[in-house]
Amino acid sequence: MPLDKKIIEDANKSFLSGDYLIALKKYEELIKKEPTNSILWNNLGLAFLKLGKLNDALKAFEKANELKPNATLAQYHKCLILMREGKYQDASECCDKIISSKPNFTAAKVLKQRIENIIVANTKNKISTEETEETEEYYEEVVEYHCPECDAVIGENDVECKKCGAKFSEMQTNEIRGIANTTNQP
Ligand SMILES: [Zn+2]
Repeated sequence: MPLDKKIIEDANKSFLSGDYLIALKKYEELIKKEPTNSILWNNLGLAFLKLGKLNDALKAFEKANELKPNATLAQYHKCLILMREGKYQDASECCDKIISSKPNFTAAKVLKQRIENIIVANTKNKISTEETEETEEYYEEVVEYHCPECDAVIGENDVECKKCGAKFSEMQTNEIRGIANTTNQP
């Protein structure tokens, strides 16, 4: 029996208030009830991200993809982690998977371009931080405003899909930056 969306929204609310540990626990509880719900795994991954647990996040996103091979968001989040870990080639291939299965998800194309830029910059042995900033701004502008999971129309600043409960905002680079900071902590 599908979960009441209200329960997912409740967990998402905890996430939005910054109670990531509580949100994490709630997602885990929900997953116990519905272990094959890829959206829950995606949201769990984001909570792990916020808590600086990159490996657990990666596993959660991979689980989401395993359950739903075209789980665009989870795949996308995985690509972001790979990029942040400096695995640019893997990150690029990760984006290819989205682009081939969901060509209208422009965020993946922009991310891919950004990764390719880094690869080129690396081979030239000069990464300009300013350049990266610019690309990120551009990237945020082109994030599409449909839920990648269910295609429902979403508002520009929405942080979750009202229809299916998927969390997708904050998935931009700021999220990953926050993680980069928290991983430095003991
Ligand atoms: Zn949706």
